[in-house]
Amino acid sequence: MSKSQRNHILIVDDTPLNLQIMTEILSSEYNIFTAQNGVAALQSVREKKPDLILLDIDMPEMNGYETCEYIKNDHELSDIPVIFVTSMNEEDDEEKGLALGAIDYIHKPIRPSILRARVRNHLELKKHRDVLQRDSYIDSLTELANRRRFNEYIDNQWQYAQKNETSVSLVLLDVDCFKKFNDSYGHSKGDECLKNIADELSGCAKNYKDMFVARYGGEEFAAILTNKTLHETIEIAEKIRKSIESLKIPHQTCEKEKFVTISGGVSSIVPNTSDKIKTLFNNADKALYKAKKNGRNKIETN
Ligand code: GH3
Ligand code: MG
Ligand code: MG
Repeated sequence: MSKSQRNHILIVDDTPLNLQIMTEILSSEYNIFTAQNGVAALQSVREKKPDLILLDIDMPEMNGYETCEYIKNDHELSDIPVIFVTSMNEEDDEEKGLALGAIDYIHKPIRPSILRARVRNHLELKKHRDVLQRDSYIDSLTELANRRRFNEYIDNQWQYAQKNETSVSLVLLDVDCFKKFNDSYGHSKGDECLKNIADELSGCAKNYKDMFVARYGGEEFAAILTNKTLHETIEIAEKIRKSIESLKIPHQTCEKEKFVTISGGVSSIVPNTSDKIKTLFNNADKALYKAKKNGRNKIETN
């Protein structure tokens, strides 16, 4: 494995000799960073996002328990496995560390084979967890975020917007006459078409900082935008509609156009604490219905 593909490990210990010993044991297999106190460790964790952390407990100022607690309470960092490396042998200490979210304990003095084996095992488990998590969030056909991920994302954005009095906008998109597309060209061409649309949506999302797209259902997609007015959201949705039209995917049996098109419903809100996320969905849904009723290949709001 080349050095750039190796896993990154952060070793935290206030005794330089301990850092040196552990670095020597692990550096032929991993890229190692070190920190000599809790504060420096947190900074390094945020900057370098290591794959695993070896953490001393007994350190001045911020000890290992506190450092671990910070990491486990930050949802961007909490997935990183923490192994305590300590000379504390009391059962209570070990229990406390595990309760704080550490995944394992290694006792000093360090035995090289044990350190290597535990690190390897936990990195392997982490890799499997990451794959499972990725699969549970990604739609396998289009590789867009799936509905589960979408719901989680919009819940977070909604809470943020309620606190900060900012906007959340929703665009629901539905492929026009897609049943007829499948009937004319076959299901696998239908799948291919959905993939092409998804790729185009991903491309559109890259143009905007606060835009998130997902496959919402069979031939339905959704985009969430934050910090956009209703008017701005409609403009963006309109650009998306046009970009799908310009893919010029043939669709001879569609009522109007000779190419695959999408319709979209847009809603936008600056939610107050009593507003319900359902309202945003209902409004976008009604708008989408309107777009279909008014002839498809349209963006509407209600
Ligand atoms: P409208 O313009 O009113 O939206 O009409 P429509 O035909 O697109 O809508 P309808 O809901 O009647 O049909 C949706 C079709 O989408 C039916 C279903 O077989 C197809 N579909 C849903 N998911 C998939 C998929 O993953 N692959 C393929 N090939 N087709 C799918
Ligand atoms: Mg539909
Ligand atoms: Mg449809």
